[in-house]
Amino acid sequence: MNVGIIFPDQLSNNNPVISSLSAEDCLIIYEPLPTFYEISHHIQKIGFMISATRHYVDSLNIPCKIIHEKISKKPQTIEAILQSLISNSTKIHLHAIEPSDYRLKSELTLVSIKLGIEIIIHSDPKFIASLSEFKLWAKDKKSLVQEFYYRWLRKKTNVLINKEGNPEGNAWNFDKDNRQGISKLKDAPIKPLRFKSNNITIDCLYQCSEIFPNAFGKIDGFNWGVTHMDALAALDHFIEFNLGNYGAFQDAIDQDNPFLFHSLLSPYINIGLLDPMAAIKAAEQAYLSNKAPLNSVEGFVRQILGWREYIRGIYWKFMPEYKNLNFFETKSKLPSFYWNANTKMQCMAAAITSTIEYSYSHHIQRLMVTGNFALLAGINPKEVHEWYLGVYIDAFEWVELPNTLGMSLYADGGIVGSKPYCASGQYIKRMSNSCKDCHYNVNETIGKNACPFNFLYWDFLARNKKTFDRNPRMKLVINNLEKKSESFLATIQQQSKIFLTEIK
Ligand SMILES: Cc1cc2nc3c(=O)[nH]c(=O)nc-3n(C[C@H](O)[C@H](O)[C@H](O)COP(=O)(O)OP(=O)(O)OC[C@H]3O[C@@H](n4cnc5c(N)ncnc54)[C@H](O)[C@@H]3O)c2cc1C
Ligand code: SF4
Repeated sequence: MNVGIIFPDQLSNNNPVISSLSAEDCLIIYEPLPTFYEISHHIQKIGFMISATRHYVDSLNIPCKIIHEKISKKPQTIEAILQSLISNSTKIHLHAIEPSDYRLKSELTLVSIKLGIEIIIHSDPKFIASLSEFKLWAKDKKSLVQEFYYRWLRKKTNVLINKEGNPEGNAWNFDKDNRQGISKLKDAPIKPLRFKSNNITIDCLYQCSEIFPNAFGKIDGFNWGVTHMDALAALDHFIEFNLGNYGAFQDAIDQDNPFLFHSLLSPYINIGLLDPMAAIKAAEQAYLSNKAPLNSVEGFVRQILGWREYIRGIYWKFMPEYKNLNFFETKSKLPSFYWNANTKMQCMAAAITSTIEYSYSHHIQRLMVTGNFALLAGINPKEVHEWYLGVYIDAFEWVELPNTLGMSLYADGGIVGSKPYCASGQYIKRMSNSCKDCHYNVNETIGKNACPFNFLYWDFLARNKKTFDRNPRMKLVINNLEKKSESFLATIQQQSKIFLTEIK
């Protein structure tokens, strides 16, 4: 007998597990992902995945038996379900989509060995490239630079490539046009499409909050889509209204509007509700029909075809060791304000408040605000990783871990980024409108009103100077550091120490 198994992040339309089954076979839908029980998750994230899974099951039109293991306080294990099927059948062939995180993949492999079940792994339709394509590209490369994988995939998929075989606009990347701060914003963004919850979703949210009474975040702001149709509608809305300004304001931060021109498509893409290539093609079409400028379209395409695919390749290439990397050997605990936004740092409060309300904050808030702070403050990467993995609606270990440990904390020592994304308050002042309302003064570095990002930034550089001396991309900042007096650095160190003790 063939047995298929589908997890809540494997809801693609063209699901290869389903097409492997016939009437006499059996499909297991397994909701209780182990990670839900291991770390604190946002209630909207669990509710979203469970509601999407139940809508998916309702839409299935297949003749075989379905075993639907729902989330509960004590769910049946995958092993126990398979064991019960073995007693009724002589031989089982288990069909699964390649689990997207390492732990689940190991668990499936172990269970299949233990029970003597043959396991057939299908490639995951929610990605554009296969893992063997990443391996092929990475073979013989000294360093794995995202930009080059992106260009390789652009050529391979023929996205934004003109008739002569060159990149549209004769450049691969228009990032230099995509760095406007919020002060340059003239047209207010159109609100992203949000969805009214039906009874299935309301029941799921209610059940999830019973099972996980201590889950993080607010439930009332939930208005995510939960079906393939919803995801397509969200894509159409983004392409029509916000793609045009996406590029220019990609790095801007508006404390009163956490969404700006971002697409909010990551949750849908990451559980299979939206095909990543469909999103890319829709953006490319907007460019070809003169509905959106190239800097926006290329910027959006690069995030999905470049970053998303690259990050997945990095995860699988370096796991399981990757998860334990801690380049700076940092040990501090995550401050409690990451869970309640109770901080006088206005930029941090805004990013965390949006996280609590929507299970979302956009990339620059994750990277340059909450991530930057954790980097400068020397927070232990494991603690930061567990926070990002739990609180964001789109968070799965394969994508969250390299973004957190690699891009944000440089805990991988330079696998993902060639230098740390560290910045003082001046960067946040340039990109956002938070500093004007802040308790701290972004133009001060020393003293009780000084912006913590400022003194922590210099302290971080001074602490790690020896390491950065070897990095040519850090030359400029290290030159600036060397111009600082001994007494300035001693004061910075003392001020940082006091501040970090106070926020513990
Ligand atoms: C510390 C940190 C943790 C992150 N954790 C996650 C995570 O758990 N899940 C996740 O999907 N993204 C993660 N990201 C990447 C990025 O922040 C989110 O993909 C993005 O904010 C999702 O919102 P959006 O759909 O509005 O994105 P948009 O700005 O509209 O971007 C379009 C799409 O590009 C893709 N994308 C953009 N940047 C990245 C990236 N760096 N890596 C992978 N895909 C990307 C996403 O699919 C996204 O939907 C993280 C970034 C950082 C710095
Ligand atoms: S002053 Fe500093 S802490 Fe306050 S909002 Fe600006 S960057 Fe953030």
